[in-house]
This record gives sequence, C-alpha cells and structure tokens, in this order.
Amino acid sequence: MPMRLKSFDDIAGIWRSGQLASRLHEELKQLLQPGVTTLELDKLAREFISKNQATPAFLGYRGFPAALCVSINDEIVHGIPGPRVIEAGDLVSIDLGVVLDGYVSDTAYTWLVGVDGVIDPEQAEQHDLARLCQGTNNSLQAGIEAMRAGARLRKVSLAIQDVLLRHKLGIVRELTGHGVGFALHEAPTIYNYDAGARGPLLENGAVLAIEPMATTGSDNILLAADQWTYKTADGSPAAHFEHTVALWDDQAFILTAHHDEAARGTFGRNGQ
Ligand code: MG
Repeated sequence: MPMRLKSFDDIAGIWRSGQLASRLHEELKQLLQPGVTTLELDKLAREFISKNQATPAFLGYRGFPAALCVSINDEIVHGIPGPRVIEAGDLVSIDLGVVLDGYVSDTAYTWLVGVDGVIDPEQAEQHDLARLCQGTNNSLQAGIEAMRAGARLRKVSLAIQDVLLRHKLGIVRELTGHGVGFALHEAPTIYNYDAGARGPLLENGAVLAIEPMATTGSDNILLAADQWTYKTADGSPAAHFEHTVALWDDQAFILTAHHDEAARGTFGRNGQ
C-alpha cells in the first residue's frame, strides 16, 4: 500500500491534534505519582480528550478497551489500564493517540516514577534505566533527523538502529512505527532496525509515527494473557518513545513536540 502524502492544511490539522496529545502527556505526567492507578490515568485522558472536542484514537481500535496504553517495567507496549497501582521506582510508558477534526496523532513517553512524582529517567540513578531511556529517546531523535526528502525510509531505520546498538540495548523487532494522520496506522511500516529493503522514497507530505522500543536485556518478547500487552521475555525493563513527524519543505517537523522540547521548531510557527 503506498504512503498517503499530506497537504499543508492536512499537516496543520495533524499538528493541532498532536499539540492536544502533547498537552495531555503533560497533564498525565502531573498525575503520575505513587498510588495512582493506571485506570485513573485513562480516566483523565478520556476527560481531557472529550473536553477538547476530540476522540481517543486507541479506544475501540481492533477492540482495544481504553484511551491510553500504559505499560510498566517489563511491559513494552499496549498495556491496558486497570486497577494496577503505580509505585515509586516504576518505569511507566504512556502511549496515546488523539483524533481531532479527523486528524490523527500518536505519541509516547517513558517516565520513571519517584516518591514525589516523575523523575526524568535520563537522570535516573539506576545506570541501566538512564542508558535505556536516553538511548531510546536519542534513537527517536536520530530517526527524525534522518527524515529527508529524497531519502529512502531505510535511512530512518538505520539511524534508529545505530543509536540503540551504541547504547547496547535490545531492539524490539516485532513492533514498528507507521504512517499516520488520516488513520492511526497507515503505510509505510517503519522498522527500528535494518530490515534490508530500502523502503519507500520520503517526500514532502510524508507524516510518520516513529516509535523505537528497546530493552536493557534480551530482545525476545512475549504476548501476555490479556492478548494485548507485550512484555520482555527475560523480565528486563523496556522503554518506548514516539513522535508524529511531518516532512515539509525538506524539514522534519515534530507535530507532537512539547513547546519546550528540543525540536527544529513547530510546524505552526515555521512551516510556511
Ligand atoms: Mg504508534
């Protein structure tokens, strides 16, 4: 299936959706404290999204029962919110998708929960968690930087893989990034490793959800009994960072970037 390129107006719409998703991540981060349940996080997400005249992209997708995926410690992705109580020291990945005016954005962060709330996991005292979160987030940034008009998608995969290997992380190969914008999952498939094929040509109008997932241990994964949650086979912790990124005017614009996050600029401000 070919990649569906987006117009300037489409990208502006996905950016508005992405900014809502980014603001929701900030709200969730405030609530992320020891004692909160993953269901309470999901409740906040549903209320925030509905208050902003949007809909959760994950709810009902192939039967997924929640607005958020919340995956803790050895859970990699697709964790279902429920009664589980978050504890200090938990590594929590929150993945969310928003549909606003028909435009879909998709973004994920991994946070470390401290006694009084979120600790930047890149500053974690546990060396392994710092390596995991820094390495995974850096690989996302490297993938974004490799997005260039005229390049093959393989360049993005190679850039991600290089950084993950440099940090000596296990690369989750069964799960991939994807095109996004008109629907939650569009072509192309974005591997987080070199799958061999050169992949489609990147052109202005490409909108990609780039989402490396990595572990401190083995790259083998298991599907939990709930048939949704993926976990590491050896119980090692996993991280997941994701942004929705548009290629326009030969620049990669992070449509889900938080306004103070290091980025090349937001589409709304610079994308003329
Ligand atoms: Mg995604």
